[in-house]
Amino acid sequence: MADPGEALRALPSIDRLLQEPATAGLLALYPRAAVVETLRGVVDTLRARLRTGEDAPTERLVEDAERILQRRFQPRLRRVVNATGVVLHTNLGRAPLCNPALDAVAMASGYVNLEFDLESGQRGHRSDHVEDLLKELTGAEAACVVNNNAASVLLLLDELARGREVIVARSELIEIGGAFRLPDVLERSGATLVEVGATNKCYARDYERAITENTALLLKTHPSNFRIVGFTHEVTLEELAELGRRKNLPTAMDLGSGVFVELARWGLPAEPTVSRCVSSGVDLVCFSGDKLMGGPQAGILVGRREIIARLARNPLMRAFRCDKMTLAALQATLSVYRYPERLPRGIPALEMLTRAAEALEAPARALAERLRAVLDAQTRVEACPGMSLPGGGSLPATEIPTWMVRITPAGHWAERLRQAEYPVIARTEEDAFILDVRTLLEGDEERIVAGFVSSSPSPASPRAVD
Ligand SMILES: *Cc1c(COP(=O)(O)O)cnc(C)c1O
Repeated sequence: MADPGEALRALPSIDRLLQEPATAGLLALYPRAAVVETLRGVVDTLRARLRTGEDAPTERLVEDAERILQRRFQPRLRRVVNATGVVLHTNLGRAPLCNPALDAVAMASGYVNLEFDLESGQRGHRSDHVEDLLKELTGAEAACVVNNNAASVLLLLDELARGREVIVARSELIEIGGAFRLPDVLERSGATLVEVGATNKCYARDYERAITENTALLLKTHPSNFRIVGFTHEVTLEELAELGRRKNLPTAMDLGSGVFVELARWGLPAEPTVSRCVSSGVDLVCFSGDKLMGGPQAGILVGRREIIARLARNPLMRAFRCDKMTLAALQATLSVYRYPERLPRGIPALEMLTRAAEALEAPARALAERLRAVLDAQTRVEACPGMSLPGGGSLPATEIPTWMVRITPAGHWAERLRQAEYPVIARTEEDAFILDVRTLLEGDEERIVAGFVSSSPSPASPRAVD
């Protein structure tokens, strides 16, 4: 063992370390203060270890500092590979944007005519850029947008029902996760909830009987993430709209995940489209931009001109308004829907949801083949059929047949691949680590293979050397 006294004396000073060529690389990448602080920390640790008589090698000092700096300066928000098969995964950012939306975000990063009317040279409104498109696509008289659909609900309740009563079917008092519970939002808006109907059944007459001089709004919500089956009845939008007209009360539908096209076209469960809801006669329909619509996070409200105008003047609108990049991405996404012949391809979320299982078998087999080539012989890698989920509180209780790659034993792949350069998020079931190919984007296969190679416990011993 080396003489600890000598090793201690040989520890370089921070000043000397900063002169070394190896450190120059760090100074080019990281702030000087952070490099100094990290080097000091590494030297202090070494000194402490040498003092206790430990044999601590000093030649990897700069490398150690580099590893620490790398970790500290790595962005927290990063691109990940979604191999979960959950298309609208809220924790992974819901809908991936379409290419025109990406270009639009880049365009909007400079100056844009956000609140400037190019024709008159006067001040304009930021919602104008998407209002005409929304009117065209939904048949509504008017439209406005906010940051997310939770804000839509809060805004419409605040404007139409603050201090008064809102009638909702008991079966539709939903919680959609992330602590968004309709009864709580109602309370926060200052409106009073009046629940009607039984858990499984609600009729128009239940709504009608609950109407008092204090009633401000008749509300219906999409159950989003659950379904009541069996002996059930719900009030149709037409019935609700008719009752509202007869009693001179506004009606609204929180659609949750708004769709513009009939999903049944591609064999998915039928969901009421936004335009169908609008034509039912309800005064207001609100939905998310980043669920089945496949755009950026936004809350979209469409409906009667007078009501939209009131929402636009509400002071909360100033707090809920979208930024220019969201509006640009939204405009671009909505524009794709003007060309129905470009669907589902033009909208990544729709394209993924409608991929037929038969079309996923070959990619799953190809990925399994590539992984088999880099994993050791004890690891079983097989392509097999399974089920994907729409996610995002859309298409409740719907599973979509898919193909996936099953890796057994599951080992520590889930943790290891989360640490990869492109973290790979997938499912672990029993003793298998499962990658669903439905939700992979272009280039993700390479990222997955690279992730497995870099996270292999020991240098991977390829099974086929020939
Ligand atoms: C998802 C959802 C919301 C909330 O929408 P966000 O865009 O996530 O804020 C509100 N209501 C219903 C019925 C939903 O499904």
